[in-house]
Amino acid sequence: IMRIQAIMAKSGKVSYYITSLVDISERKELEEKLRNLSERDGLTNLWNRRKFEEQLAQHANMLERYPNTPTTCLALFDIDHFKRINDEMGHDEGDRVICSVAETLLSGVRNTDFVARVGGEEFAVLMPHTTIQEAEVVLNRLRVAVELSGDGSVTVSVGYSDLTADRTRSYKCADIALYESKSAGRNRVSICHSFDDIA
Ligand code: GH3
Ligand code: MG
Ligand code: MG
Repeated sequence: IMRIQAIMAKSGKVSYYITSLVDISERKELEEKLRNLSERDGLTNLWNRRKFEEQLAQHANMLERYPNTPTTCLALFDIDHFKRINDEMGHDEGDRVICSVAETLLSGVRNTDFVARVGGEEFAVLMPHTTIQEAEVVLNRLRVAVELSGDGSVTVSVGYSDLTADRTRSYKCADIALYESKSAGRNRVSICHSFDDIA
C-alpha cells in the first residue's frame, strides 16, 4: 500500500509530500489462506459444500433470468459400499479412496465444470452448457474411470438432472436419480428429468 500525504506550508501551499510504503504480502497471503479454508475441502482440496451451494444458486439464478440459455446439468456421485471399504481397509485407506475418486472426477471434466465434495463420500458436479445426452456420456465415462482407477472394487453411483431456476427441486431430482442407481444395483448412472413428477 502506498500512502501519500501532503505537508502544507503556512502560506497554504504544499511544501512537500511524505510517501510511505507498507508491504501487505503477508496480509494478502493470510486472506488467501482464509478464503481457501472457507471454500475448499480440507481432504481433497475440491470445492466444499458451501462453495457448491453458492455456485448452484448462481447457476439457478442465471437460469431464472435467462431461461433460454443452454442446459446446465447437476450430477451427484456417491461411492458404493464405502462403509465396507472403511471397515475392511481402515479409515486412512478410506480417505485415500475419497482423494483418488476426487482426482479422477476432476481430471475427467471440462475446466469450466465445477466439482465439489458435498459430503463424506459424496461429490457434486455442475456442467454448464451441457445437454442431458452429453452429460450421460461424460458421467458414464467418469463412472468407468473410477472403476478402472483401482482394482475394480471402488465404484460410484451417479444421479443427475437438468438444472432449473428451482435449485432445491433440481438437487432433489439428482438425489432421486442417485437413489435409483443405488437400488438398481450401483455402479451406474441414472437421470431424473426436471419435468419428471417427483411429488
Ligand atoms: P452405499 O453404496 O449405499 O452408498 O453404501 P455406503 O456404505 O457408502 O453407505 P453410506 O453412504 O451411508 O456410508 C458412507 C460412509 O462413509 C459412512 C461414514 O462412516 C464414511 N465416511 C464419511 N466421511 C468420511 C471420511 O471423510 N473419511 C472416511 N474414511 N470415511 C468417511
Ligand atoms: Mg453416502
Ligand atoms: Mg456411499
